[in-house]
Amino acid sequence: MNQGKIIVIAAPSGCGKSTIIRALLDSGDLNLAFAVSATTRPPRPGETEGVSYYFMTTDDFREAIADGAFVEYEEVYPGRFYGTPRSEIERITSEGRNIVLDIDVNGARGVKELYGPRALTIFIEPPSIDELRHRLEARGTESPAVIDERVDRAAYELAQAPAFDARIVNDDLETAIRQTHALIDGFTSLR
Ligand code: 5GP
Repeated sequence: MNQGKIIVIAAPSGCGKSTIIRALLDSGDLNLAFAVSATTRPPRPGETEGVSYYFMTTDDFREAIADGAFVEYEEVYPGRFYGTPRSEIERITSEGRNIVLDIDVNGARGVKELYGPRALTIFIEPPSIDELRHRLEARGTESPAVIDERVDRAAYELAQAPAFDARIVNDDLETAIRQTHALIDGFTSLR
C-alpha cells in the first residue's frame, strides 16, 4: 500500500511559513493534508478548535504523552507544549494522502528519525537575521522584548538548518512557494 509521504516544514518565526503552507495546500495538486497539532497554548483570535490546533490543558496533554498519543512533542516555549497526534497521521494516511506538518526544528528532527525516507524535512529561512528583525518590526505585532526573543530563537534554529533535507530561502515569497512546491512534487512522485 502507498502510505503517503510526510512533509515536515520548519522555520523561525516571521519567515512566512504559514503563508507558504497555505499556498501548498491551496495549490490542490500535491494530494496534501495538514496534520493538526495539539497544544497547551490558548487559542488566538480567529483560531478554531480541530482546525488550527487541538487545544488542551497541560494535564490532558501530559496524559496523552503517557498514553503514547503523540508521534513527537516539544515544549517549544516555556510551559507551552506542542505535539503531533498519532491519530492525525493515521487519519491522513488512511485517506491515501500526503501529510504536511508545521512543527518546530526539534520536532522535525524527531519525525525524520522516526520515518526516515518516508519523510522530507524542509527548512524555510530568512535571507538574513537582520532582514528577519526588519520583518518582525514591520509587522508591528510584537513588543521590542518579544522581537529580541524571537530573533534569538531564530539564530538558534538557523544553526540547525544543515540537518534538514532541503533549505529554501524566503527572499521573494512567490519564488519560495514555487521552489517548495517543486521540491514536494518531486519527492511525492518518488515511489
Ligand atoms: P504557534 O504558537 O506560533 O502556533 O507555534 C509555535 C511553534 O510551534 C511553531 O514553530 C510551530 O511550528 C511549532 N509547532 C506547532 N505544532 C507543533 C507540533 O505538533 N510539534 C512541534 N514539535 N512543534 C509544533
